[in-house]
Amino acid sequence: MAIVPSLYRIEGILSVCYLITTDEGLVLIDTGTAISHRRILRAIADLGYTPSQLRHILITHADGDHVGGVVPLVAISQARVYTSAIEAEAMARGQFSRQLRLRGLLRFLFWLAQPLYRVQPFEAVEVVKEGDILPGLGGLRVIETPGHTPGHLSFFAFGSGILFAGDSIAYHGGRMRPPFASVTWNEELALASLYKQSALRPRIVCLGHGPVIYDAMEKFPAP
Ligand SMILES: [Zn+2]
Repeated sequence: MAIVPSLYRIEGILSVCYLITTDEGLVLIDTGTAISHRRILRAIADLGYTPSQLRHILITHADGDHVGGVVPLVAISQARVYTSAIEAEAMARGQFSRQLRLRGLLRFLFWLAQPLYRVQPFEAVEVVKEGDILPGLGGLRVIETPGHTPGHLSFFAFGSGILFAGDSIAYHGGRMRPPFASVTWNEELALASLYKQSALRPRIVCLGHGPVIYDAMEKFPAP
C-alpha cells in the first residue's frame, strides 16, 4: 500500500515495515519477524524489483519483531544494515537490548509467541548516530529516540515531513502516546523522545505497530 509516491507499508507478522523506492535501489525500514521476510520479498517483486535491488536496511531497534528478517534479507540482497551502537551490540548477540518487564497474561502471551521473536545474531551493522543522513525520500535524518529501548532510533524524511518512529510511539484512543510501560526500558526518556519527535513537526508518522498517522501534529500530546 502506497503511503505517498515511492513509500510503501508492508504489513508483517506482528509489526509493520516500510519500503522506499529510489533511483539507486530500495530502502527498507525494519524487517519484521524471522518469517516476515517472505512478505517483504513478495512486496519487492510486486513493485517490479528484484531482491538484489534492496540496498539499505534501517533498523529502529533490536526487538525480534523488527530485526528477525535481517539475516535472510541480507543473505539474498547483500544490503547494508544501519542502527545505533546499543542496538547493533544487541543484534550481534541475537538478543533484545533490554529486559522486558512483562507480568501475568502479557508474559504468558509473549512466551507463547516467543518463536516469532527469535533472532539470529548479526554482526555486520553500520553504526549511525543523531544527525546522520541515510538514503531514502531525499534523505532520512537519524533521530535518537531512547525509551522503549536504550538505543532506539527514528528516521525523519525532512523534505516530506515523514517520521518513521518504530516503537517509540504508541497510538491508541486517536492520540500518539509513549510506548506501554511493560515494554519500555525508561519511561522518562520515552516521554522526552515523544516531545522531541513532536518538535520536528512531522506531517505523517509511520509506526512499528498500528496505522499510518496522517495530520500527525493534531495527534501529539500537548507538552
Ligand atoms: Zn519494540
